[in-house]
Amino acid sequence: MSYLKKIEYKMIQKESFIVIRNCSKCGKKTHFKNTKKFRVNANGNKLDVWLIYQCEQCKHTFNLAIYERQKITSIPKDEYKRFLDNDEQLAELYGKTIKLFKKNKAVIDLIRLHYDFVKLHETTENSDCSDRILLQIHNSYEIKVRPEKQIAAVLGLSKSQVQKMIQQGEIELINVTSLCVSAFMNTDICNPFGGML
Ligand SMILES: [Zn+2]
Repeated sequence: MSYLKKIEYKMIQKESFIVIRNCSKCGKKTHFKNTKKFRVNANGNKLDVWLIYQCEQCKHTFNLAIYERQKITSIPKDEYKRFLDNDEQLAELYGKTIKLFKKNKAVIDLIRLHYDFVKLHETTENSDCSDRILLQIHNSYEIKVRPEKQIAAVLGLSKSQVQKMIQQGEIELINVTSLCVSAFMNTDICNPFGGML
């Protein structure tokens, strides 16, 4: 009986995204970083909450809207308190939430991304096909990294080595979306790199 080994990884963003935008004070495009502070503005029973970003060079600020004119009662009390306390963990969490940047039309610096791969689990099941490995890399932050680069990082190989393996059919990309990359691999690929997988 053959086996199918399924190995799952998760891509994690280690630090807040950095935003590239025109700084009106510097008069050019600069990098803006997460200050890990919030700005909260209550107006009647409506609330605005922003995550404050700051120009690396001149400290000019840019606010990313988290809530706009939201009913205070619709925001969880615990989260509201964390906004007021400038909870650093919550600020970091929002700083890694890609939807927030999309909503604010903020351009993320794709060169200065700090990501890592964490192994989730590994399962083996019987299969009628030949021995194979199914590698799945989940990318819930939708970090823009090419699939062959993601696979290379997990296997501890170079991108060109992985590209060659794809051309030679040793690695078969079966599904590539912004949220997940799945690939079948020959089992012998993993032998020299057993430690990585
Ligand atoms: Zn500036």
